[in-house]
Amino acid sequence: ASRERLLVVANRLPVSAVRRGVDSWHLEISVGGLVSALLGVKEFETRWIGWAGVNVPDEIGQRALIKALAEKRCIPVFLDEEIVHQYYNGYCNNILWPLFHYLGLPQEDRLATTRSFQSQFDAYKKANQMFAEVVKEHYVEGDVVWCHDYHLMFLPKCLKERNRKMKVGWFLHTPFPSSEIHRTLPSRSELLRSVLAADLVGFHTYDYARHFVSACTRILGLEGTPEGVEDQGRLTRVAAFPIGIDSDRFIRALELPQVQDHMKELKERFAGRKVMLGVDRLDMIKGIPQKILAFEKFLEENPNWRDKVVLLQIAVPTRTDVPEYQKLTSQVHEIVGRINGRFGTLTAVPIHHLDRSLDFHALCALYAVTDVALVTSLRDGMNLVSYEFVACQASKKGVLILSEFAGAAQSLGAGAILVNPWNVTEVASSIGYALNMPADEREKRHHHNFVHVTTHTSQEWAATFVSELNDTIVEAQLRT
Ligand code: UDP
Repeated sequence: ASRERLLVVANRLPVSAVRRGVDSWHLEISVGGLVSALLGVKEFETRWIGWAGVNVPDEIGQRALIKALAEKRCIPVFLDEEIVHQYYNGYCNNILWPLFHYLGLPQEDRLATTRSFQSQFDAYKKANQMFAEVVKEHYVEGDVVWCHDYHLMFLPKCLKERNRKMKVGWFLHTPFPSSEIHRTLPSRSELLRSVLAADLVGFHTYDYARHFVSACTRILGLEGTPEGVEDQGRLTRVAAFPIGIDSDRFIRALELPQVQDHMKELKERFAGRKVMLGVDRLDMIKGIPQKILAFEKFLEENPNWRDKVVLLQIAVPTRTDVPEYQKLTSQVHEIVGRINGRFGTLTAVPIHHLDRSLDFHALCALYAVTDVALVTSLRDGMNLVSYEFVACQASKKGVLILSEFAGAAQSLGAGAILVNPWNVTEVASSIGYALNMPADEREKRHHHNFVHVTTHTSQEWAATFVSELNDTIVEAQLRT
């Protein structure tokens, strides 16, 4: 018998496509996150549906790309530049992303925003319809359809309208905010109703799931139950599915000669100093200025540590065309410059700040030689960096300082030192506590988190969501 098929729908396909000629494409698979997660769902045959990240206006190019992607089990959704601008840059990144991370709606130029709000929401719906059309075209009866993230909140409804019998799940990779935040969104009800069309709705943590259910009861007046949300006898199941990482991939990487060599170099480079590490996209939600200011306070109060500790901050550029992100970049540069000027010597500076990404192996080496990792997100759906750090610390057993506003605080809270990133005094004293922590306490804390990270993997997460989705549908059929 052939396996059941799983259609994974996400804004971006797990490939980047570069055009090489009129009808030829070069594809590069990105193995991160979702892809490795779904390798664990062995009882299903997976197909990917999403945007390839390029504008392909001509039909020859589109046909060639469809053909090239088919070999990778990927199916493209073609979005033109205007839609991408309004749907992706506009509604997704400028409205939903900040709102879901408690930064509120954009406030500048209110009238203009209101007008563009409507057109961006229209584009969002239109883009979701385009995804739905591609799903419908490829759907075969019995397929399970798994929609991902805030880009596709309108999709469950579009799919069910096209085929009531389709099995539809939706998972949110960001926080879902308190209903008091969600209710400021002009399209609050329409979005909630569209998500509720799914059979199963998943979040990283119980808090996010509870916020979603409260939004449905308070804003839509529906009934919340321990299982989910009920609307005239129909149940949408709502539950928490904390994501994980492919921990084996990190653990195996540490054995590679090139990674070992790199670790040796780093150890020599920072000999005699403790290494603290931050790895974040340069986004306001990551609390990078707060982190650096806390480090400054620590140095201020602990002169004996000044030449014995270094903070390596990897700040991966993101949305660099957006003015707010450019402002954040220069703000961070200014603070780093000031602190290095203040505490640096002719031969060493306390902060090494990198405005770029590292490749997988360099990142693993860095995680492995770190003494204290510092995650100070102001809000973060999960934060996988904290998981990756733990996975790479089997021999060093370093300390994780973790924001209580990251989803990961729910799962790594017992081993990490939890902090409120807004409380610079608390973070500074946690740095001191972590740097001075005795080996037996470090080992105990590390062990706790290591067991969690290696048992709650991304493969486990995907398999659980999909099997729960199947169960939900079976139960619904029994009820009717
Ligand atoms: N990452 C990377 N290269 C880098 C820095 C980070 O590939 O130079 C990866 C990192 O391994 C992690 C991801 O980016 O898997 C960040 O995920 P996280 O959940 O921490 O935050 P997000 O960026 O999704 O908000």
